Amino acid sequence: MRLVRAEKSLIENPVDFGRLGRQAGVIRVPGDPVTGVAEALVPIVTIANGTGPTVLISGGNHGDEYEGQLAALRLIHEIDPAQVAGRLIIVPVISTEASRAHTRLWPSGENFNRSFPGAPDGRQIERLAHFFTTVLFPAADIVIDLHSAGGIGWITPCSHMCVPRDPVQRKAMLEAMEAWNSDFHFFYTSDGNYLPNEAERQGKVVVTTELGGSSRIPVDVQALAWSGLTNVLRHFGVLEGAVVTRASLGLPPATLVDCRYDDGKVGAVTSGLFDAIVAPVGGLFEVVLEPGSPVVAGQPVGRIWSPEDPSRDPVDLVSPFTGYLIGLRTLPVVTQGQSMALIGREIDRETLLANG
Ligand SMILES: [Zn+2]
Repeated sequence: MRLVRAEKSLIENPVDFGRLGRQAGVIRVPGDPVTGVAEALVPIVTIANGTGPTVLISGGNHGDEYEGQLAALRLIHEIDPAQVAGRLIIVPVISTEASRAHTRLWPSGENFNRSFPGAPDGRQIERLAHFFTTVLFPAADIVIDLHSAGGIGWITPCSHMCVPRDPVQRKAMLEAMEAWNSDFHFFYTSDGNYLPNEAERQGKVVVTTELGGSSRIPVDVQALAWSGLTNVLRHFGVLEGAVVTRASLGLPPATLVDCRYDDGKVGAVTSGLFDAIVAPVGGLFEVVLEPGSPVVAGQPVGRIWSPEDPSRDPVDLVSPFTGYLIGLRTLPVVTQGQSMALIGREIDRETLLANG
């Protein structure tokens, strides 16, 4: 029988949010002697000085998404408390075992980003999620969670957001998302159990990213991870230095892309990451359109070859509507029914601010 839920986290907070300067600790999430699951050890660092907002920065929500992990580690290494007005709470690698194993999911097969709000007496992953929900989020004004497509794909490097209903929160999140200065930003929906959903429910300004993916991180993507993260921190006034805008860099405005498919017009589309197109057959996948490209209805974004029947014509993977190709599952081996592409329609910021 399930125990009655305690409100309070049973995990001890290894850092003191009231203390200035630099602190480092380890969040220890108990294992399970019955199933043999080992204790999870999750490093946490705080850098605090003076007065200002508190920003929670996390990488490695999904283990094989390393761009944000590297940017967060660099932040810990390079930022001195004297440069900070407020507090940075940095968890550079949330899913430590998955990161080591180069897997998106925990060794248990569970997805940390589908484990919210969590439970204090639940499975290990739920206990850690609950620690975020009841200890880390309440301490923060701003929550930055850094993702990419991980080992299986590529999403054009960008920041994005799960659009909140509250117009004030939405505007603050839009402006923070734009401070990343990427060429694209996109909007998505979710089932409500993601890390950003819980932070949004608590009224936080939430900034999230998709910084490329696959097993090789290009130098320019890691540079964007760093420039975007530090510029967002400057945008909130928690890190010293002037805020840079796309205009000040001589760049055109970013393209805003709406990847929320709740209008039922695009076929087998749900809220899954690459659900805009599903593989009609299995085989070997060839990319024919790079993510970040405009796409028209009926245009192939890739094709699937048949190694079992080499004489068979390849099957095109076709965009169901006109918009932008934001991401692709790029792993060359595909199975029938697999989610393959993230596509959205351009949206202007006034429409988003007015209607959500
Ligand atoms: Zn992710």
